[in-house]
Amino acid sequence: MTIGPNGKVQELEARIVGALRHRVGKNERAAKPHDWYNAAVLALRDDIIDNWFASTSRAHEAGAKRVYYLSLEFLIGRLLRDALSNLGVTREMEQALREHGLDLAALEELEPDAALGNGGLGRLAACFMESLASLDIPAFGYGIRYINGMFRQRIDEGWQVELPETWLAHGNPWEFERRESSYLVGFGGEVTSDAGKIRWTPGEKIEATAVDTPVVGWQGKRVNTLRLWTANAMDPIQLDAFNAGDHAGALAGQVRADSLVRVLYPADSTPAGQELRLRQEFFFSSASIQDIVRRHVQYYGDIRTLPDKAAIQLNDTHPSVAVAELMRLLKDEHGLDFDEAWDITRATIGYTNHTLLPEALESWPLPLFERLLPRHMQIVYAINAKVLREARKAGLDDAAISAISLIDEHGERRVRMANLAFVGAHSVNGVAALHTDLMKQTVFANLHQLYPDRINNKTNGVTPRRWLHQSNPRLTSLIREGIGSGFMAEAEQLASLSKFAGDAAFGERVDEIKRANKVDLSNHLRELTGIRLDPDALFDVQIKRIHEYKRQLLNLIETVALYDQIRSHPERDWVPRVKIFGGKAAPTYHNAKLIIKLANDIAKRINCDPSVGELLKVVFVPNYNVSLAERIIPAADLSEQISTAGMEASGTGNMKFAFNGALTIGTLDGANIEIMDRVGRENIVIFGMTAEEVAAQRADGYNPRAVIEGSRELAQAVNSIANGVFSPDEPDRYKGLMDAHYSSDWFMVAADFDAYAAAQREVDGRWRDRAAWRKSAIMNIANVGWFSSDRTIGEYAREIWGVL
Ligand SMILES: *Cc1c(COP(=O)(O)O)cnc(C)c1O
Repeated sequence: MTIGPNGKVQELEARIVGALRHRVGKNERAAKPHDWYNAAVLALRDDIIDNWFASTSRAHEAGAKRVYYLSLEFLIGRLLRDALSNLGVTREMEQALREHGLDLAALEELEPDAALGNGGLGRLAACFMESLASLDIPAFGYGIRYINGMFRQRIDEGWQVELPETWLAHGNPWEFERRESSYLVGFGGEVTSDAGKIRWTPGEKIEATAVDTPVVGWQGKRVNTLRLWTANAMDPIQLDAFNAGDHAGALAGQVRADSLVRVLYPADSTPAGQELRLRQEFFFSSASIQDIVRRHVQYYGDIRTLPDKAAIQLNDTHPSVAVAELMRLLKDEHGLDFDEAWDITRATIGYTNHTLLPEALESWPLPLFERLLPRHMQIVYAINAKVLREARKAGLDDAAISAISLIDEHGERRVRMANLAFVGAHSVNGVAALHTDLMKQTVFANLHQLYPDRINNKTNGVTPRRWLHQSNPRLTSLIREGIGSGFMAEAEQLASLSKFAGDAAFGERVDEIKRANKVDLSNHLRELTGIRLDPDALFDVQIKRIHEYKRQLLNLIETVALYDQIRSHPERDWVPRVKIFGGKAAPTYHNAKLIIKLANDIAKRINCDPSVGELLKVVFVPNYNVSLAERIIPAADLSEQISTAGMEASGTGNMKFAFNGALTIGTLDGANIEIMDRVGRENIVIFGMTAEEVAAQRADGYNPRAVIEGSRELAQAVNSIANGVFSPDEPDRYKGLMDAHYSSDWFMVAADFDAYAAAQREVDGRWRDRAAWRKSAIMNIANVGWFSSDRTIGEYAREIWGVL
């Protein structure tokens, strides 16, 4: 039977009503919008599940090598639109719902935004899962099913307030619990040796149970599995205690298990040393490694062939303890000797580094590690002895050997997780060319000396399905009209768009689309914040985690300087601007929270000042998340990527904006450099110091006071913020924050200020030349296809995993 387009609508409609009645338990009359949302997902899910089974059996029958992506974060966002569009049934779903008077876009808004991640690292994991499925590579993502993901941000009087995000409160129709996939994860206890056989008897065991979410690839080709672990106490309730009246004590075990999966640590870089964090890391790493080993032995019988059938990728150092856990299983449970276990472990594991920030390199106090994981401590010592012998043999000096050691001997002794991941992996990659070079020169200089072939680069990417097709349907149809739809699967086909770069009619259509997206965003922001925006103004956007190295402050200080200039010279031909900010601050990161307050204070003052009128508006969008990014990015004219050079490993926001035709104003940092190389120097606005210049200035004794005093605009802006112009209710609020720029200015805001302000006036100049701006926008879209995560995953697959 073939189902025509209309047949598909009717079939879908019948399935939705069936699901509504028999699975949701409502009839059409009683159903509320959230019931229809659930019914729509359940109806769609049936197609997905069939493809899921088929994908799994295909991989199994072919004996295919699988990729296992271990990540403490998956910043997924909503799934309905993604699944509909990858299955190619968006139109059909729209029509089927319309027959019941329902609007798909409105139902989509009812889906909670799954925010099991902080920012770029977690979003990368989600893009990778989609690309793996789209490239038909059998893969599992492994992580934690956090009961509360990233906090919800409310802005109260300009201050960030954190509220728990209860994304699971009304159930989750996308997930399936797999009770048969349960493993015990041990903590503490003691290690004994019995006739040479080592035995770890944990003091506590927690049960990890798999909860699976299907991940649909482009055109539904393959459906992979995102497997997230939940935790259960072995005895959820101790009845004897309960019956004796100790009700809280009776439930203590389950409370302890719950705490493992309760919250995502809400910082991109968590200060080391928190026991719960190490417990989370071991919990999910151990369950995942046990699952991988069990599957391998069940399918292939012989654990020795593991590297032929499994490639495990560690997303940053968070799952590093997986190295020791795989060693333990190979040695203690499968009886291999140390050297053989070590060869298998390294051949199976790859490690991706995401940051050079010293405070983000995880390490654990040795006594904590040993108490929680006594057997793994022994294994870490054994690995360390082997590595240090190799280093000695290679002729490394004492300083190099102490830098390579898995144990940091300076002060309180600590286990270095990045070093463990490095030595336990056959491949160690950075996420952009500059970042990979800096890895070789800085954090891993000595390990690179010992293992010179191990470090390689895999520049990040983003999935064009979510970040162009689904988020910007208007632009997608224009591109499709121009060059066909091959770019969805092969983003580099976007290159053919360059033939339209000088085409005035095409350029105008690109402009009309941008304007329509800006009208949509303005309407949404008026609902959210009450602020009215002019869609003909230049929309200048900085949305990302709030962090001093990302330099929202540079943007804010320049905004204040611009405000001063507009007031002093109202007669000049100013380009009307809307400055959009969004992002969350880690709850304990004082300066980041103060920066949010400053953005809101500046917005409050400027937005009601009649002397600037429509020339300048400032908006802080609360609760930045994936769904908001999908609305904001298609409406952006200018993408702010202004980190201190050498600090942003790659960035992926920069790529999403370029896919949507925004021009970048940015430093020579992370992937900005590679974006410049591809879109052309004339289609991007680059300013400021290079990573090398930043390092040299810091070494030379950088004097920010002299810089500030030498720049009238900067000094005025900094002093007005410091003196309370934007905080009349508390004039000293920003004094400390601004004084820090005079005394240390670690992130070199002052040093780059004049260059940044000049670059912003260059942006104004380009904006006035509408034809040139449109051409640059088209050249950005045409030349960023390389930043598709399909290209990135293709490189991992060929060069690290050996699966393509
Ligand atoms: C892409 C993305 C990020 C990463 O943005 P950067 O600008 O690369 O830091 C963070 N959060 C969300 C919600 C994203 O979609």
